[in-house]
Amino acid sequence: MRIAMIGTGYVGLVSGACFADFGHQVTCVDKDEGKIAALNAGKMPIWEPGLEALVKANAGHGRLRFTTDLAAGVEGAEAVFIAVGTPARRGDGHADLTFVHAAVRELAKVIGPNTVIVTKSTVPVGTGDRIVEILAEEGVETVSVASNPEFLREGAAIRDFKLPDRIVVGAEDEHSREVLREVYRPLFLNQAPILFTGRRTAELIKYAANGFLAVKISFINEIADLCEAVGADVQDVARGIGLDNRIGPKFLHAGPGYGGSCFPKDTLALLRTAEEAGVDQRIVSTVVEVNDRRKASMAARVTAALGGSLAGKRVAVFGLAFKPNTDDMREAPSLPLIEGLIADGAQVAAYDPVAAEQARLLMPLVEFAPDAQAAAKGADAVVIVTEWDEFRALDLAELAAAMRGKVLVDLRNVYDRADAERAGLIYHGIGRGAA
Ligand code: NAD
Repeated sequence: MRIAMIGTGYVGLVSGACFADFGHQVTCVDKDEGKIAALNAGKMPIWEPGLEALVKANAGHGRLRFTTDLAAGVEGAEAVFIAVGTPARRGDGHADLTFVHAAVRELAKVIGPNTVIVTKSTVPVGTGDRIVEILAEEGVETVSVASNPEFLREGAAIRDFKLPDRIVVGAEDEHSREVLREVYRPLFLNQAPILFTGRRTAELIKYAANGFLAVKISFINEIADLCEAVGADVQDVARGIGLDNRIGPKFLHAGPGYGGSCFPKDTLALLRTAEEAGVDQRIVSTVVEVNDRRKASMAARVTAALGGSLAGKRVAVFGLAFKPNTDDMREAPSLPLIEGLIADGAQVAAYDPVAAEQARLLMPLVEFAPDAQAAAKGADAVVIVTEWDEFRALDLAELAAAMRGKVLVDLRNVYDRADAERAGLIYHGIGRGAA
């Protein structure tokens, strides 16, 4: 089957490479000439485990191509996926559909009849309907429009794509359903459940899923605050509730608040959709507020751990990406943290295994170290912000010896207080009020 992927970012590139790996003929199209040139030269524009090998293998077999030429990219394609960005719009936070609408208008000029246009980007309810209208405005009536939201997680994207919990397809006609069934047929062998539903419902499923996950994270973060106040341990509370099948153990890790390219913008867009529909969404609305406040309060935790002032203090930050195994810095909790530390007078040294290059552009006042030990040298405090595997088994005694002070602020609860104290460190975790 011939597939075109419009937008070759985290989602488009991973989806395109995985579709090619299923045996489909895939062309990835992007406007960014640098990105396409890099891909054609075998260089990955993003860091994602396993991606380079997958792209190279499928490009080598001639099943995966990269181009900036939209007309050539969509020629003969039965399904054209739109995977362009839908960032939060400045001002009101609703999903900015500029890239989606522009891609559709460009597509209208080159797309063949009976093609199915599929939105893989996260788009608000009604976007599919609007795409149908735009196509009609451009004189295109024979193209179907379907919704197929993507649920992959950066850092585990290939596995998530190939072994999804479910595939959601929103379609309004049998032809779209047939084409998408064929696209995903290789996954039926893995017995991946596929949910066929209406287009508007599929669009909402994505926002409801991210809204719910954001609720879970904020819930455990507030319980962590309570643990600190009453002398309980959030790690055990999370385990104690997570073992209940009705609750489940995932997304119950207390931390510095959620970030990334999805939860912050998708919760905001969900609220705007609800507002437009005149429906209250008080839970998600509170979660957005709780999370914003939480991210903004992390610097104050470090200040408190250092005795109330950061003047003349040196702080080492371990991990900058919004989560491990990615170089994505979008809405990362490290950003407001470091901004706050610097505003309060600290000197900040940072280390991240892969996101340093991206982070450098966003944090001009930060000193970047080549490894964790170098970042910790002479520091009054070390703050673990992203739980990369390489921060999970640090030699804490060595770390303590390299530092000037002894404070370890563990925003991901990677370490036990007892181990840290044995190494001579003063430990501050999240929600670990129990002695
Ligand atoms: P991204 O910013 O990494 O990539 C988007 C790409 O689209 C860019 O390379 C850009 O140059 C390209 N583009 C924009 N307009 C174009 C056009 N008209 N023609 C061709 N290319 C164009 O974005 P992303 O993180 O891959 O996210 C894409 C969508 O998928 C968003 O809606 C996002 O919410 C959703 N999503 C993202 C993730 C994730 O983990 N990143 C997961 C699920 C869903």
